[in-house]
Amino acid sequence: MPAAERRSLQGRLRAETYLLLHSATGSSLRRHYREFLRQDRERRYPEPGALLASILEHAVTTVPHYRGAVAAAEIGEDPFAALSRFPVLTRDTVRAGWRRLLSEAGDRGRWAENTSGGSTGEPVTLLQDPEHLALTVAAREVYSTWAGGGLGDPELYVWGSEKDLEGETTPRGRFGTLLLRRSLLNAFLLTDEAVETILDRLRQGPPRLVIAYAQAGYEVARFAARREIEVPPQRGMIATAGTLYDFMREQLEQTFGCAVLNRYGSRETGDMAGECEHRTGLHVLPWNCHVEVLGPGGEPVGPGEEGEIAVTGFTNRAMPLVRYLIGDRARLPEREVECPCGRRTQMLAEVTGRNVDMFLGPEGQMVDGEYFTHLMYFRPWLRQFQVVQRGPEEVVFRTAGEEVPAADREEIEAKTKAVLGPGCAVVFERVGTIEPSASGKLRYTIREF
Ligand SMILES: [Zn+2]
Repeated sequence: MPAAERRSLQGRLRAETYLLLHSATGSSLRRHYREFLRQDRERRYPEPGALLASILEHAVTTVPHYRGAVAAAEIGEDPFAALSRFPVLTRDTVRAGWRRLLSEAGDRGRWAENTSGGSTGEPVTLLQDPEHLALTVAAREVYSTWAGGGLGDPELYVWGSEKDLEGETTPRGRFGTLLLRRSLLNAFLLTDEAVETILDRLRQGPPRLVIAYAQAGYEVARFAARREIEVPPQRGMIATAGTLYDFMREQLEQTFGCAVLNRYGSRETGDMAGECEHRTGLHVLPWNCHVEVLGPGGEPVGPGEEGEIAVTGFTNRAMPLVRYLIGDRARLPEREVECPCGRRTQMLAEVTGRNVDMFLGPEGQMVDGEYFTHLMYFRPWLRQFQVVQRGPEEVVFRTAGEEVPAADREEIEAKTKAVLGPGCAVVFERVGTIEPSASGKLRYTIREF
């Protein structure tokens, strides 16, 4: 039976109350949510070309930065071809020139300011209109049903930012949190006591949809495993904000007794993509955006290849972002995916992490940061780690846990030199604990130059 139909009557009543509350304050969330739910059930989504054409035409006619970039007639003819003629948009351009990215149409008084995570530097300022918020929240709630959740059924967030939980600090937000039976635990303050509280709630309460920062969720699962704390099976789990490695997913599924789906989102555009239960890759959410994957020269990469993500958001007309280089990388599927779920959407094989995760050798060679995370697998002495490349020929392995055994040290050093050259200095630095970055993601690999 589909998750949406398995939902309790109580959950549906709570959801309806919540949505009506939104309607009473002028939000179109209820309309979008119901429409997206229906489209998803029928597997009939809006035409991506039409959504793309609409936002591009809006950009070239009302946004100074894009005015005249491409003729409106060309967009109408072939929006995807027109898109490829737009310049890419870098974070630096948004940071320095965000005013020129604002639309001259619309009611500025109703736009809300948001800032992006900023894990790779200064945060980016964004203005978002109420319709964008309603559309992206609707898409997010429909995505939760893919993972076994449903608006109004209990959820546990292991989350880094209260602000993201839909205005947690406003009276409407606080009431919504209560009404929707959402519990929030701070992903940044994972003390033993906080983790015990999380596990107690999961043991006592009804099964929930757990929505967690991947790393924080993994830490909670490891804690439960270490202490041999049994958690009853949960409804489902969504891991987000950071790379979900296979070893993390295995631990999470074992501890929480449910499937774990990987969701990819951002402050800039809302959720961009997520896995369905078949895990054939990430479905680009058909309501929110169009994703391109570009090579070093800005050209689209071929099937099976990896490149930089350039995202074009469909929903925010206050400040349209066209071909925005968000700072993450993705790999396209080798061949066209016909996912058994029947959702015919754009697909990504995987999101491979931040740009800075690529290490750069003295000869200019690029090494995926994941090479270094693999070096750290199955090291029983290790509790946490972070690999930092300080310069082309200096790599620091920061480790929390026991002393690094000599044999492991030699092996890690040799394997590092094998990819970054014999001149590379390999340093081990033992620390008490490794803190997440300002955005709340624990980064396993960092390139500092
Ligand atoms: Zn699918």
